[in-house]
Amino acid sequence: MSAPGGTDTRNPSDAPAPRRIPVMIPQLGEEEAQAAAEAVRSGWVAQGPRVARFEREFAALVGADHGVAVSSCTTALHLALVLWGVGPGDEVVVPSFSFIATANAVRYVGATPVFADVDLATGNVTVATVDAVRTPRTRAVIAVHQGGVPFDVAALRAAADRWGVVLVEDAACAAGSTAYGRPVGAGATVSAWSFHPRKLLTTGEGGMVTLDDPEGAARLRRLREHGMNVSAADRHASAQPVLEAYLETAFNYRMTDIQAAIGLVQLDRLTGLVAQRRALAARYQDLLADVDGLVPVRDPAHGETNYQSFWVRVDPAYGVGRDEVLAELAAAGVSARRGIMAAHLEPAYADVTPAPLPVTERLTRDSLILPLHHALTEDDQDHVVGVLRKLAR
Ligand SMILES: *Cc1c(COP(=O)(O)O)cnc(C)c1O
Repeated sequence: MSAPGGTDTRNPSDAPAPRRIPVMIPQLGEEEAQAAAEAVRSGWVAQGPRVARFEREFAALVGADHGVAVSSCTTALHLALVLWGVGPGDEVVVPSFSFIATANAVRYVGATPVFADVDLATGNVTVATVDAVRTPRTRAVIAVHQGGVPFDVAALRAAADRWGVVLVEDAACAAGSTAYGRPVGAGATVSAWSFHPRKLLTTGEGGMVTLDDPEGAARLRRLREHGMNVSAADRHASAQPVLEAYLETAFNYRMTDIQAAIGLVQLDRLTGLVAQRRALAARYQDLLADVDGLVPVRDPAHGETNYQSFWVRVDPAYGVGRDEVLAELAAAGVSARRGIMAAHLEPAYADVTPAPLPVTERLTRDSLILPLHHALTEDDQDHVVGVLRKLAR
């Protein structure tokens, strides 16, 4: 920046500001700010018409008949298990290799999480890894589209039908990912979504359940709103007094109209955002192709990831361990992150003794997440790759 008259106001002896590359930045602009302000000015800030529109548009985008907006993906997963009557005495197979909310939702309904291992290339459960830990008490499977990488929906949905269990899809990370040429969510029994700022599409906090079953959707609408037979929005909109009834003990898991207003703007950004991330991911893959022992995440044969998380496995051939790589990246101003966590290694699950989970433990120990976001430049990428190439020598 030059001052009027062309004089550079910086002290020429100042060192340039050190480079800082964040791992993720949500894409939020003036449009979102205005949409939120409009919701506030309208006076309707709790769940109302904007939530209803956001539900319709999001469900259409992911190819589901119904969307029920809730306060987070965690509460979406909880309601999905309540809807299918999962409870005490039941087992639910989940990957340990996931954000801890996936396993926690099972405990919210008093059921027992049973950890399945994952595939080394995708980080996702498979028919074989679920089958290995399934028992006659298994009522449901929560499979995760981890980091946006779709699991094999055709194989797992068919297996779940054969086994007579409910397949809940934790699609927290997967808005904009595809499987077998359709959006993740299309054809699912039930999917749970997150709009936390760490995901591609954000409403601050927020989540959604999508499904094709109209009766299930109607019950979910009651479950998120204290079990009321008529929504507060409909009651307020009615000219006549409406006497509501509370049909069952339920929850307050509602999304606000302020959040939905932001979400509606975010929906318009998604396609462009995913295309941009896929281009940047391809560039990382090219630049890292000849580095021995670094294995970047890729599309599986059955679908395309939105690259919500660009994770890289650090194999022994690289010569330097994952934690040392993270430290070197941090020293160079690159904010990378450890890879996906493993719930069974956390104190909250110390009372669980799972079957061996060798792939989960290897991935959580050896993988890291590189910066990938809409503001990442090719120059930033070259800097990240430069650190990784230098370390390899
Ligand atoms: C982020 C995440 C969640 C939790 O989402 P919230 O909206 O923050 O509750 C659940 N599962 C997976 C796989 C996630 O990545």
